[in-house]
Amino acid sequence: MGLDTAVLYIVATPIGNLADMVPRAIEVLQSADLVAAEDTRHSQRLFSHFSIETPLVAYHDHSDDQRTTKILQRLEEGQTIALISDAGTPLISDPGYRLVREARERGFKVVPIPGPCAFVAALSAAGLPSDRFTFEGFLPSKSLAREKALQALGGETRTMVFYEAPHRVLDTLEAMCEVFGGAREAVIARELTKAFETIHLLPLAELVEWVRADSNQQRGEIAVLVRGAAEEKSSALDAESERVMTLLLAELPPKRAAALAAEITGVNKKLLYNWSLSQK
Ligand code: SAM
Repeated sequence: MGLDTAVLYIVATPIGNLADMVPRAIEVLQSADLVAAEDTRHSQRLFSHFSIETPLVAYHDHSDDQRTTKILQRLEEGQTIALISDAGTPLISDPGYRLVREARERGFKVVPIPGPCAFVAALSAAGLPSDRFTFEGFLPSKSLAREKALQALGGETRTMVFYEAPHRVLDTLEAMCEVFGGAREAVIARELTKAFETIHLLPLAELVEWVRADSNQQRGEIAVLVRGAAEEKSSALDAESERVMTLLLAELPPKRAAALAAEITGVNKKLLYNWSLSQK
């Protein structure tokens, strides 16, 4: 394959199943002058499998300036560079932003070679609305910061997609249950494209129990998707939410009633609270 010269190719690689490698990705990696990789040892396995012998060099976004400069120098010399990450699409919760930005600023052509991406695969098979969504990547690992980040998403009406480490997934689902309410639908998408692929949709409260009861669900690579909050349509509520709110408001202050009703109905807390104000 004849590649254009002085081009930076951004090449997606499999997220587990090597059969998902696209032919164009193999051709570009075989023909490039140099491949910049997140972890050269990890990528060596991919290279052996596809008989790719192109030299590899390590690249992280926190790589020293010298590393970025060297790659840019190679582009200036007319060489063709490919960027890969350990798995999936570079720059999606992976390094590459700095290099792409600088390459473009210096006028080099940057060409994507699309392919696997865990969140796209998860969203395509989850059964949650996919017409509008927000990719949130990894939440902060500390519980307080994570809760804050989730609270900021309290009113988000689009499907939310997260990446999570296996040892944190249960804590994260519990925190989501707390913030979004146990009735909100969510999906755990685990080990996609691999032998133990699991895609499971349940209301958050049930999903927490399901994951807690089976430690296998806390292993491997995991994406979590959460349905967005119900759209705020003026201050109107569905009949069931109105009934629950009316009962609770007879006993509780509006804020507490809205929080409890959100748990029961899965409807956004703010929407319930606003409705209570409109009833005064
Ligand atoms: N660049 C990758 C992409 O395109 O999806 C993501 C890299 S990020 C460092 C790794 C995270 O992606 C994992 O912790 C997990 O949350 C998610 N992930 C990667 N492969 C996955 C898979 N096979 N199944 C489910 N989630 C996966």
